[in-house]
Amino acid sequence: MGLLGGTFDPIHYGHLVAAEESLYRLRLDRVLLVPAGQPPHKLGRRVTPAAQRLAMVRLAAADNAALAVSTIELERHGPSYSVDTVAAVREQAGPGAEIFFIVGSDALPDLLTWYRPRRLLQLSTLAVVSRPGYPFDLSHLSASLPEAAQRIVHVPAPELAISSSDLRARVAAGRPIRYQLPEAVELYIRQQGLYIQSP
Ligand code: ATP
Ligand code: MG
Repeated sequence: MGLLGGTFDPIHYGHLVAAEESLYRLRLDRVLLVPAGQPPHKLGRRVTPAAQRLAMVRLAAADNAALAVSTIELERHGPSYSVDTVAAVREQAGPGAEIFFIVGSDALPDLLTWYRPRRLLQLSTLAVVSRPGYPFDLSHLSASLPEAAQRIVHVPAPELAISSSDLRARVAAGRPIRYQLPEAVELYIRQQGLYIQSP
């Protein structure tokens, strides 16, 4: 199975294409979308309340039977580390399950700064989906992380220059977000009045 974690503030087609291409390329049975609690890398920014981010993820996943939503990181206190999430999902799924931890290629350059990267690569295979401006490249990792070549795979996908931060800025500035995320998610953003204030 695949696991795609994120702040999802808000979820958008970049996330959904990453999940769908991983399903197809890696022949996964399903992808678990895992909204983060207060994310360790984003302590400086105000993050939309978990209930609203979760609601948007649920709306986005509703029409795809291969997408499931996990609240595991929302139920935990304090920051969630990917390695803990993968360990917990493994425990639930049983020892035979192969887990692909899906990330965008922008996450790859700082893999070594993550909490326990080697353990993460033991527990899961890292599936890296291309993101514009971040070519897939393991050369800088191979010296300090020799297992990278075996435990990190590239998932080529249409590169979408869509980001949650840009979507938030767009809403705040009154610019369009249509066609960059599911219609139901845009409707929810408008109904709840999310992102109207610039950060
Ligand atoms: P922000 O701009 O707030 O950082 P984001 O768009 O990067 O938001 P996140 O919730 O931070 O979204 O991302 C969750 C995961 O999805 C990360 O692994 C990220 O690399 C990946 N991801 C996000 N957007 C894309 C995209 N357009 N294409 C491929 N992967 C993406
Ligand atoms: Mg991001």
